[in-house]
Amino acid sequence: MSDNPLEGHEGTGLHPDTLAVGFGYDPASAYGAVKPPIVLSSTFAYPSAQAAKEVHQAYFDGPSPERDAPYIYARLDHPNLKLLQARLAVLDGAEDAAAFSSGMAAISAVMLAHLKPGDSVLHTTPLYGGTHGLLYGPLAGLGIRAFPIADALSEKSVEAAAETALKHGPIGLIHIESPANPTAGIADIAMLAAFAGEVGKRQDKRPVVSVDNTFLGSLLQKPLKHGADLCITSLTKYAGGHSDLLGGALTGSVARVGPIRMLRTLLGTHMDPFTSWLLLRSLETFPLRNARANANAATIAAFLRDHPKVEAVTYLGFLAEGSPARAVYDRQCGGAGSTFSFRIRGGERQAFAMLDRLKVFRMAVSLGGTESLICHSATTTHYLVPPDIRREVGVDDSSLRISVGIEHPDDLVADLAQALDAF
Ligand SMILES: *Cc1c(COP(=O)(O)O)cnc(C)c1O
Repeated sequence: MSDNPLEGHEGTGLHPDTLAVGFGYDPASAYGAVKPPIVLSSTFAYPSAQAAKEVHQAYFDGPSPERDAPYIYARLDHPNLKLLQARLAVLDGAEDAAAFSSGMAAISAVMLAHLKPGDSVLHTTPLYGGTHGLLYGPLAGLGIRAFPIADALSEKSVEAAAETALKHGPIGLIHIESPANPTAGIADIAMLAAFAGEVGKRQDKRPVVSVDNTFLGSLLQKPLKHGADLCITSLTKYAGGHSDLLGGALTGSVARVGPIRMLRTLLGTHMDPFTSWLLLRSLETFPLRNARANANAATIAAFLRDHPKVEAVTYLGFLAEGSPARAVYDRQCGGAGSTFSFRIRGGERQAFAMLDRLKVFRMAVSLGGTESLICHSATTTHYLVPPDIRREVGVDDSSLRISVGIEHPDDLVADLAQALDAF
């Protein structure tokens, strides 16, 4: 193990499977306990008045708040958070990481850190509902305008969005969600990062490029390697993996993550000790769970594609060879993941009849848990989205989204097969 708990993945020479289990923890720091204890203290005692002064100096004047400084108060930093952040950084191949109380807490901190009244922001489409709500609600109220990129694989489309945005004000942020949910639309991260450099020549500052990596997660996509400045992940999904916690991660360079971590302290959206500990535990089996869920998903996607009552399956593994999306997918993604949508031959009535017959799949929103989930997008996750926009993002009354878990694939296929007999 590396001496430096924040040293990058390459520096360790170890595989993610190994790093996920033990990276950054030294049993000698806790009575020889093989597993890290949960430290619930809200505040930390100074050994002397002089030490207190030095601790505050290190925190406020250091390169990245709280990264190397001793503990002061748990909203700033605490032992479980520090250990979790070290492990998140190493899994993303990042220099530094910050953990938040939810994915949305990480996204809002990034937006508040990089956007000010008068700025514009470019974003891929469709966006996660919460991100869309934040940009077009409270941030619009602060005079920040959001501009969608129609096709994030086409430089022309990006240029067109930027021209419109620049008429409103400087572009502070380019926010990418790829693959997008539920369309599985792909954005070319490297192209957008290079484009940010071009925009930088036309205004005071290069826009910051952030990528919401929730849909594939750390093991299947590394946005920082493709030129993104910040990688955001909802840990609620694959990393947490058991549908029993909420959390968010931000990774990037010390220079990028440090100031946002300072902002987190002011917003009070750090991750608490128990959730941090739960996540450390979850991360140990992350590679195992991911491999099983991805294999299950490939089996189920193939079963659905060949089923006479299924109209279409939007699974990344089925992207057409030779298409622009496929080329970027092959370069950018390590696999198709385990969440995808499909459309049955029928409408709401047939979809509901099928859903109500499922015995193994649970009907719920969210994704990335050990259990398989399914939901009728139009009446749940996309309930608030107007029908014309819903159609644009490929969601109609026949659309179902599934998040495939780690159960036995034969049981999952059998459950879907008997449910599809409902109509
Ligand atoms: C769930 C999700 C989020 C928000 O994460 P929370 O942990 O629920 O706040 C953001 N982006 C995507 C793509 C998501 O799926």
